This record gives sequence, C-alpha cells and structure tokens, in this order.
Amino acid sequence: MKNIKLAGLNGNGRTIVKVRDVKIGAGFIVIAGPCSVESEEQLLKTAHAVKEAGADMLRGGAFKPRTSPYAFQGLGLKGLKILEKARDETGLPIVTEVLDTRDVSWVSEYADVLQIGARNMQNFSLLKEAGKSNKPILLKRGMYSTIEEWLNCAEYILNEGNPDVILCERGIRSFETYTRNTLDLSAVPAIKELTHLPIIVDPSHGTGKLSLIESMSLAAVASGSDGLILEVHVKPEESVSDKDQTLTPEQFSAIMKKVRPLSAFMGELK
Ligand code: PEP
Ligand code: MN
Repeated sequence: MKNIKLAGLNGNGRTIVKVRDVKIGAGFIVIAGPCSVESEEQLLKTAHAVKEAGADMLRGGAFKPRTSPYAFQGLGLKGLKILEKARDETGLPIVTEVLDTRDVSWVSEYADVLQIGARNMQNFSLLKEAGKSNKPILLKRGMYSTIEEWLNCAEYILNEGNPDVILCERGIRSFETYTRNTLDLSAVPAIKELTHLPIIVDPSHGTGKLSLIESMSLAAVASGSDGLILEVHVKPEESVSDKDQTLTPEQFSAIMKKVRPLSAFMGELK
C-alpha cells in the first residue's frame, strides 16, 4: 500500500494505546454506552449498568452527526459535563465524538478518547486537528471507504504527531438492505497484516439490528479484534437515536458473559 508510512508495520511491534488504566491493543476491551447523551439520569444509570457488566470504557455522543438537520443534534457542552460526572462516579474513561475542527481542543479537555465518526473519516481538516490533540483518536471507517483510504486517514493523524490511533470497523454500505451496514470482519485480520494500530469492532452500527449483535460480537472476538464498541441504554425504547440497535443492560451483560471467556480462549490459542 502506497504512502502508509507511519501506520504501516515497522518492525517495532504493535501499538498499545493507553487510556487512563485501559490498554487498547493488549487484551480485549469493551466500550459501551448510549448512542447519545440525553440526560444526566439516562447517562449515569447506563454508565453504572455497563460498568457492573464489565465494560472498560463509556461511550456517549454529545455532538451527533444526524442525517436530518431536524433530528436531535446532541447536548454539546452539557453532555460533556454529564460524561465527566459519569467518569467521576464510575472510573470509566469516556469516548465521545467530535464533529468540528473548532471543537477539538476544548472537547479534549473533557474526553479521554475523541471519536471521529464514519461520516467524517475523510474530513482532512478534522483529521489534522485531531493529530494535534494530545488525546487518543478512535477513527471509524467511512461507510464508503476502502481499507487503504481508511489507513490514509490514520496517516493524517499520525503525521501531525499524535501516535494514538484506534481503528474501528463499523460496517460499510453494500447492496444488502436487511442490515443497516455490512460489517466487514475481514478488515480485522487485514488491518493486522497492514498496520501496527489496534482495531475494534462496532456491531451496533455494523448491523443496525439487535438480534444480530451478539453473534457479530463473538465473531469480532474470533476475528482477532482488540475490542468492541456497543450501544447500550438503560431504556432503549426511549433512546432518541439508534433505538433499533440499542441493547438493554441485561442484553449487554449476557453478551459480556460470552465475550470474556471467548476472548480468554482466543488468547490461549495464540
Ligand atoms: C456513533 O458511534 O454513534 C456513530 C454515529 O457512529 P458512525 O460514525 O460509525 O455512524
Ligand atoms: Mn449511534
């Protein structure tokens, strides 16, 4: 692959991204939480529930990239303050999306990991700004992007001096309509043979369907993924975004009870 200079394998082993006490790329990690931060009560209850079920980090969007300008756009600063409170109460590091170059530096003061979403994967100004941040970046694969294009985007961040990039496979658009996206799990071993960066999988956006999330989470573990990111809400039926793919804490806990032993078994096979 041309011009994948910093992200490409370099003989120095695999990158481990440290986020407080969590190490991404060393052992299997799980990030869980709602699609959007909606209220203090919703986020805190969800945060405690995912912590109880064994999550390593908390997700929640304060800035939402919505298809319609009339849909809920996120709580912004208020949402970040709620995330901060959830981190204080649970100890879980927080992952949150940043949509705008103007927000990168101040959102970094709240977030432990900045997410760049699928729709912004090739927003080169945002990538450069993220590269100047001192926070790790969770770079989701664009829904129309090849692996090569995705790695070039990681390269933009690395090239600005930020070494901490975590890739996230979240499904790509295909002719299939039964699922929201087509989760490309072959990207996981492909990424491992092309780069030293860690990669996690998002079966929530990758399938868009509750009934498929457990199977694809287990398949992600078997594919060699370094972790999962899953949407969980204390009351999914009240979720303002991505309701159809949002797990209850009980469903999340049931998945975790299978994911943990499977990842331990995978570790033994190495
Ligand atoms: C999200 O994580 O809520 C999100 C919007 O994801 P993606 O960018 O993968 O669609
Ligand atoms: Mn979502």
